[in-house]
Amino acid sequence: METNQLSDFLKKRIRTVRDWPKPGINFRDVTTLFNDPEAFRVMIEAFAMECTLREIDVIAAIDARGFIIGGALSYQLHKPFALVRKKGKLPYTTIEESYTLEYGSATIEINTDACKPGQRVLLVDDLIATGGTLLASAKLFQNISAEVVGVAAIIDLPELGGSDKLREANLPVHALCAFSESE
Ligand code: AMP
Repeated sequence: METNQLSDFLKKRIRTVRDWPKPGINFRDVTTLFNDPEAFRVMIEAFAMECTLREIDVIAAIDARGFIIGGALSYQLHKPFALVRKKGKLPYTTIEESYTLEYGSATIEINTDACKPGQRVLLVDDLIATGGTLLASAKLFQNISAEVVGVAAIIDLPELGGSDKLREANLPVHALCAFSESE
């Protein structure tokens, strides 16, 4: 599917929940894509193409919706899957990074053996808002000497500036579609 066509196809199938989890936030709910086998497949194929182009060694995904995409992608490409989890969930040795969100703040962790030094990692999540989560995730992988080759998300919210911030940090961004605040 061609890029504009893919974007329209996905946007039509993403549910917007207004004023959730608090007034003023338009929550872009991707469970409607996960619930639609055709949309899910189209989405994973698009991410898989990106991974192949970038010669990825490891797929790393963000807790929790990122896991659904990352798991399917990793299975499709026969590539290792690394987890970025909220603090306190991983039982083995971890490193952590704290950051601010569009709403609130958070700390995330990865296992110290999430990937090997020099491996090419693609970070995957459902959505880029402020970019804080993906930027903190990139730092974690860089701290264990991985090469973070880019970030991929279903949705970009460009007005929140996250994708620009990621590009400024030399992280190429691949988003399958974008929503403006007014949509
Ligand atoms: P950020 O770190 O600000 O880029 O936030 C990204 C994370 O927060 C993603 O994992 C999203 O799942 C979630 N998120 C932030 N804003 C929204 C939104 N408007 N709709 C849906 N998810 C959101």
